[in-house]
Amino acid sequence: MTNTLAPFAPPQRILMGPGPSDVPAHVLAALAAPTLGHLDPVYLRIMDETRQMLQQVFRTQNQLTLAISGTGSAGMEACVANLVERGDEVIVCVNGVFGGRMKDVAERYGAQVHTVDAPWGATIEAEAVRAALAAHPRTKVLGIVHAETSTGAHQPLEEISTLVHDAGALLLVDAVTSLGGLELRVDDWRIDACYSGTQKCLSCPPGLAPVSFSAAALAAMDARKTKVGSWYLDMALIRNYWGSDRVYHHTAPVNMTYALHAALATVITEGLDARIARHGLHHRALRAGLQALGLTYIPARSLTSLNAVHIPDGIPDARIRTRLLEEFGIEIGGGLGPFKGKAWRIGLMGASSSRRNVTTLLAALETLLGEEGGASTNSGAVAAATKVYSA
Ligand SMILES: *Cc1c(COP(=O)(O)O)cnc(C)c1O
Repeated sequence: MTNTLAPFAPPQRILMGPGPSDVPAHVLAALAAPTLGHLDPVYLRIMDETRQMLQQVFRTQNQLTLAISGTGSAGMEACVANLVERGDEVIVCVNGVFGGRMKDVAERYGAQVHTVDAPWGATIEAEAVRAALAAHPRTKVLGIVHAETSTGAHQPLEEISTLVHDAGALLLVDAVTSLGGLELRVDDWRIDACYSGTQKCLSCPPGLAPVSFSAAALAAMDARKTKVGSWYLDMALIRNYWGSDRVYHHTAPVNMTYALHAALATVITEGLDARIARHGLHHRALRAGLQALGLTYIPARSLTSLNAVHIPDGIPDARIRTRLLEEFGIEIGGGLGPFKGKAWRIGLMGASSSRRNVTTLLAALETLLGEEGGASTNSGAVAAATKVYSA
């Protein structure tokens, strides 16, 4: 018998969920370049260029800036594992899924975790951080999510950074859904440890986690009394490979580095400021269209890269998302936690942040809301977006 396994041919989707985002063809093509040895001088040059471009995109001079092998969560775990020793006091701000995940990870590495909680969809108030730091003066690290993808809330960081440093603690920031799409200034905002992922605003496939550590974070790692609890994510070992020593640690995902290199070059060619402005424009157009459809935003202070809206009563969540996917090829995200079945999360990240996508989604949603919910199919959603584009 012959083997008749057909080659896998995934459909071409429009990715407007909470990540991954649309990947440009030239970034995908980079994955298909010949695999090099992970110590090949040509590959080492690509690593160096990737590091330099990551410094530009993080807006940092931090020497220890590189891509961890693994997705965004590996970046989170690398930051926590290296900064935290058993018994250390850590404050984690929790107003959604990813703050909750950071707390879980910190507990797994033995931290004594205190939380600053805010309702899902709200941002963390500086006053609450001030009170927590005062109540726990031995705090070593404060962790916070810049772009909470589960609720769409955009967290301001500058005032909180000042409070954290005045208290002598380190600031750890989750920038998974902000790097390459939202204003993020690692040096100016004095972020000590920052992690991200490739598949959100960088528009690269999932698989690497850009991270950056300040001199103070490095000093805290050097002052550790115990080994890092994860061998794979031990920055002291990873540094020896990415740095000038080039000591083998693990086999780098070589072709993923090519893709990240291509994606970062795309970000830098567009220009960070232009890219941030583009995310702003398409967010405003989408917002105008969604409002015409009668959909309201969950967070008072919304991200531009992720738009979380309430699903109106009587509208069948899963059915609309299934039909969007099957009939229009568009993926959007459902709600998580308390928003399960109650929210849609619409990503406008990286290459997905485009007029084509905004207009296509609004037209499709208008059609489906009409068919499934009895709403008007003539809400003017596309016209409302068009007005933003013409302004
Ligand atoms: C997606 C995401 C993560 C996790 O990244 P993975 O690549 O899924 O591991 C962490 N934090 C935030 C804010 C995210 O949006």
